[in-house]
Amino acid sequence: MSRSTRRRRINDSEDGDEDEAVSDQDVRPSSQRRRQTSRADAPAPAAGPSRSTDGGDAFNFDVDLRPHPLSRDQVPNLKNLMTELRNQDQNIRRCIELLNDTAEQVAEAFRTHDECAELQQAELDLRELMDVQAEKAIRRRVLEEITQDLQSGISLDDPAKRYKDEVQAHLDTYNKQTSRRKYAKNTDFHNFKNAVWVAREEGAMPPVRDLIPAEDGDEDDSDDEIVAGGQTQNFRCPLSANLLEDPLTNSNCTHSYSRAAIQNYVEAGNNKCPASACTAAVSRSSLKPDPGLAKKVAAFKRREEERALARRQTSTILY
Ligand SMILES: [Zn+2]
Repeated sequence: MSRSTRRRRINDSEDGDEDEAVSDQDVRPSSQRRRQTSRADAPAPAAGPSRSTDGGDAFNFDVDLRPHPLSRDQVPNLKNLMTELRNQDQNIRRCIELLNDTAEQVAEAFRTHDECAELQQAELDLRELMDVQAEKAIRRRVLEEITQDLQSGISLDDPAKRYKDEVQAHLDTYNKQTSRRKYAKNTDFHNFKNAVWVAREEGAMPPVRDLIPAEDGDEDDSDDEIVAGGQTQNFRCPLSANLLEDPLTNSNCTHSYSRAAIQNYVEAGNNKCPASACTAAVSRSSLKPDPGLAKKVAAFKRREEERALARRQTSTILY
């Protein structure tokens, strides 16, 4: 399985809360969806203000929906707009995957350079893409709320204003957050940081939030999940103390072990995670294969061997 396939799968399972709201209404094949989003289905443009002014609007909410107060029969149009936003989100996601793959290669290639302008730029690009993603999610959520009102029979006099105001209010809240709050829990950001870390450093990656410079406002941050989200990577089996072999990951606590070691341990009647200070349960059913981790361990091993070789070569030259 390719890395990007795996990454996509991780993302799909994690962004559920945004997508959930519309997913059950959106089961048509994409070709059909595309046909229905064509402009011909939208109401005739109004003579009034021709564009929303809140910046970056890819669809003409004002133009398409201003003509008359919104009522229930406009729900299909709103759903088309939401589909459009979801399609845009897919494209952003593909960009992020490409960016992450490139960053991994750059990190490998420039492993010995402490400061790498390409990587710094890649991280800025990634943050920007995540901001756009957040904005699309906000727009979808506001549209969804408006749609729900219409479906329950409420007629909206100035839907464009409500849309614009609510989107702006959510965006203001998002933009006020510190970088740690915005990015530390994001799976794509974690993957990016991890790819770079694995290529250049030895040992476990610290929580992602510690890799983001602190800003004013971080202190108010009492969200434990951020630390949990910045899952640390340890390539050694807590049972054998050797590098992981054919790793299995405990779905109760995300600790990983070598397959043979943990299977013996569980079969011997143990039911607590053997990692130090971890109190999670472990059982045959909580252990899942972890091909992504196996790949990282293999890469780590390869680099260790390269380093050892480089050390031998250096000592041959010097002495
Ligand atoms: Zn554990």
